Amino acid sequence: MINLNVNKNSNLDYIFNKISQSRHIDGYDLFCLLEDEDSENFNEIIQTADCINKSINSNKVSYVVNRNINFTNICYLNCKFCGYKRTAHSKDSFTLTIDKIIEKINEGYKIGINEICVTGGINPDFNPDFYFNLIKSIRANFPELHIHAFSPQEIFELSCKTGFSYEKVFEILKKNGLNSMPGTAAEILSPETRKEICKDKIPAGKWVEIIKTAHKMDIKSSATILFGHIESNTDIVYHLDLIRKIQDETNGFTEFIALPFISHKTSLKHQVKIDINTDRQKILKFYAILRLYLHNFKNIQTSWPKIGAELAVQSLACGINDFGGTLMEESITKSAGGNFGEYLSESDIVSLIKSAGKIPVRRDTLYNYI
Ligand code: SF4
Repeated sequence: MINLNVNKNSNLDYIFNKISQSRHIDGYDLFCLLEDEDSENFNEIIQTADCINKSINSNKVSYVVNRNINFTNICYLNCKFCGYKRTAHSKDSFTLTIDKIIEKINEGYKIGINEICVTGGINPDFNPDFYFNLIKSIRANFPELHIHAFSPQEIFELSCKTGFSYEKVFEILKKNGLNSMPGTAAEILSPETRKEICKDKIPAGKWVEIIKTAHKMDIKSSATILFGHIESNTDIVYHLDLIRKIQDETNGFTEFIALPFISHKTSLKHQVKIDINTDRQKILKFYAILRLYLHNFKNIQTSWPKIGAELAVQSLACGINDFGGTLMEESITKSAGGNFGEYLSESDIVSLIKSAGKIPVRRDTLYNYI
């Protein structure tokens, strides 16, 4: 645990100096950057992040042509930041059959997707075979497609229902065709705040254990943070420090994705710290700080469904080198009140990246350029 006795007079020059000497900043430096509200420092933080990003990724900004499928919104957990979950009796609850999922993937396949991302609520009625057969059917129908599926929370549920270890669950999924997994359900890994916003979710320790198991079995994942709710800067330091340590140990994260909290239709809406429409500078600064701190991540992704295409374009000058995917369907953000749409075509993304003066590069899930 990092000691955060803050010296309020901490000198950002010292931090920038450290960075200019290619030294890694530590948790205390990160805390100072997060606490700093001097607008004069804003530009320096952004420019430094941009400079680091260019030294790693030159002027290239990558994107993936993918389809997202959320196969059920029935969930027995009660995360306070969630506007997506429904009970089985809700009028607007849904569960897709495997056939329906295959049909939806086929729509994406026709426009040339090379990744399918599949996750869902934690539906208590699901039999573990649903998960195993889903991956098997996708693989049988689309031998070439990269299957990116199931969060650590879903892996935990599968392990509980089958009695299998995480290794065994991954072994079966991998045999059936799984390629990689989303590092969602991380939310905020600092234990107290995690308990406050999602007390039913797996504790941070289990999330870490499942992610490390996946990486050990050569199943890569993304890494995420949910920010802008009730978390403190100390929580953010805790979270990013943990993620950076895991990456040092496994090198299994493909990218880092920061997800600003979309509050409108959630029970946490009155405690929101970031308003997407008015706190644009705070969001850009947060992205830039990620680039300064996460020295062992080549790829940091913006989130256009959460912040909108316009701000996502601006973020490309703040240390961000990946625009994410076409998605086609991203119902989780929409259910929480997000109104930036669920689909951008490949040509939309290419134009947006070019409008930022960057070079668009199509990639696969593992960041090989296509
Ligand atoms: S965030 Fe996911 S796990 Fe939590 S309530 Fe919503 S659907 Fe369920």
